Amino acid sequence: MSNDPKPLTDAYKRVTDALEFQSGATYEPQVDPAGSDEQIQLQKACRLLAACDYLYEQAFYGSVVEMAFGAMERSLESYMIAVLGSELSDFQNHTAVYERAATHGPISREMAQNLKALYANNRTDYYYDNAVSTEEIAAAMLDLARELHSFIVTHSTTHQFDHYCSCS
Ligand SMILES: [Zn+2]
Repeated sequence: MSNDPKPLTDAYKRVTDALEFQSGATYEPQVDPAGSDEQIQLQKACRLLAACDYLYEQAFYGSVVEMAFGAMERSLESYMIAVLGSELSDFQNHTAVYERAATHGPISREMAQNLKALYANNRTDYYYDNAVSTEEIAAAMLDLARELHSFIVTHSTTHQFDHYCSCS
């Protein structure tokens, strides 16, 4: 018998039920749940970027930085699944995507290592040094995530990522 408060264990149970669709399935707009893995990952990235725009306007700079990394990771994953034959299970942690990009592209090894270092530094600063994010950092991170996303959308000549992308 756990000592956790009942409201907490009840709330956790509701999450696991929802993950099993026991309470319905109202999907997020603009992400096709029947789509391929590469399509879904790319569309998640588009949605994260749209959320970043909204959160930036509301001055949630720390959240923008977190989600910008998510958008970059989903964008890279989409490319690697489609073009390199990667599987979602290849990306079990946040750094795996940058490490695979360093080896397989589509960005250079140097850029992939830079992004991985940015991610690691952000983790460390945000959680252990009480660093507070700034408007300038959020704006630069959002710009970086958008540039990477649009590079991936337009980079491949064999895969039509632009058909999936909902960014205007
Ligand atoms: Zn997009």
